[in-house]
Amino acid sequence: MTKAILVLNSGSSSIKYGLFKAEPGGEKLMRGVIERIGAGAEIEDTRGRMSLPLPETAGHMKVLQWLAADLLERLEDVEIVAAGHRVVHGGHEFGHSALVNPEVIGQILELSPLAPAHQPHNLAGIAALGQIWPEIPQVACFDTAFHQTQPRLAQIYALPRALTEEGVLRYGFHGLSYDYIASQLPKHLGAGAAEGRVIVLHLGHGASVCAMHGRKSVATSMGFTALDGLVMGKRCGDIDPGVIFYLMRDKGLSLVEAEAVVSNEAGLLGVSGISSDMRDLQSSDAPEAKEAIDLFVYSAVKQIGSMAATLEGVDAIVFTAGIGENSPEIRRKILERCCWLGVDLDVSANAIGRPCLTTPQSRVSGWVIRTDEEREISEQTCALISK
Ligand code: ADP
Repeated sequence: MTKAILVLNSGSSSIKYGLFKAEPGGEKLMRGVIERIGAGAEIEDTRGRMSLPLPETAGHMKVLQWLAADLLERLEDVEIVAAGHRVVHGGHEFGHSALVNPEVIGQILELSPLAPAHQPHNLAGIAALGQIWPEIPQVACFDTAFHQTQPRLAQIYALPRALTEEGVLRYGFHGLSYDYIASQLPKHLGAGAAEGRVIVLHLGHGASVCAMHGRKSVATSMGFTALDGLVMGKRCGDIDPGVIFYLMRDKGLSLVEAEAVVSNEAGLLGVSGISSDMRDLQSSDAPEAKEAIDLFVYSAVKQIGSMAATLEGVDAIVFTAGIGENSPEIRRKILERCCWLGVDLDVSANAIGRPCLTTPQSRVSGWVIRTDEEREISEQTCALISK
């Protein structure tokens, strides 16, 4: 029997999953994604794409029950020995991944209001697996944990001290992705350069930037919640908090309505009025689509400048996640505006998505490195259960 770790990244309408051999660097045995949960779920894996044989409205529990049965049927010679989950917010409490128990579940639940679009779904995955396979240890892996190495000044807001002590801090997110990228830097940049000053741009539906030194996080663009920083698919990124007071006090929006404006109706979607998906904007001729892309690029360039100042220089810039990995046009637009930092773009290497995007003379090297959050969760789970 092959011992394996099941990894779940459970979101509002999708579940990404992976199965890895339960050993450090263990082979990836399977991966897939279930989308449109609650509206006619479909699975995509090595068999292609198909509808799940479930009622249209089936939620996370039913979908995971189906997935568990499907995995058991397909993998006769595999024994699932642990499950690892992505959990977006670990707050102050979790500097590392944690074995799930009722107390840990309570703490994750308490942090839900800080990540309302993610945390409840992460917990739904944990609860469902706990019922389906109660004997299997489950591990929660946090997106905030990687940033706990940041110096205090990068973490605190200029708020009254009592609020800081209560935990109103910049936590930062996408930490599982950044942790994975940090593990890959030596392979691409070389052992010495990997320890230098590196700015990583995770550009997906959610987007953020992380400044690393010695492969540790020293600053990041997201803060107390995942709304801050870059322009995102539907989130506004940097905003004057006064806008929210204006929406509520002068325009009479309720709290829920104001939250929806900045977290679901803003970003690429809000500016373009067309779509939150970068591909749709790139294939549109509308001036609003162009402006949304320009603002996305502008916000990324501004964040790179801020991170470079924090690091007091920069040795490498790395792109990852859906947009970062797949859009030469966005990478080019961003890197062309980093010449002043010492970036000399290799246009043809960028066009074909070579890992190294810059010329040999470039003072700052540019890279595209595919992220793998599921792999990172598997590694963290494996490390914890073997302790
Ligand atoms: P998530 O945050 O949901 O994990 P992803 O990392 O999958 O998101 O990134 C999703 C984003 O990547 C979408 O905006 C999508 O349009 C964009 N994307 C994917 N492929 C391409 C491509 N070839 N060109 C431009 N954008 C792309």
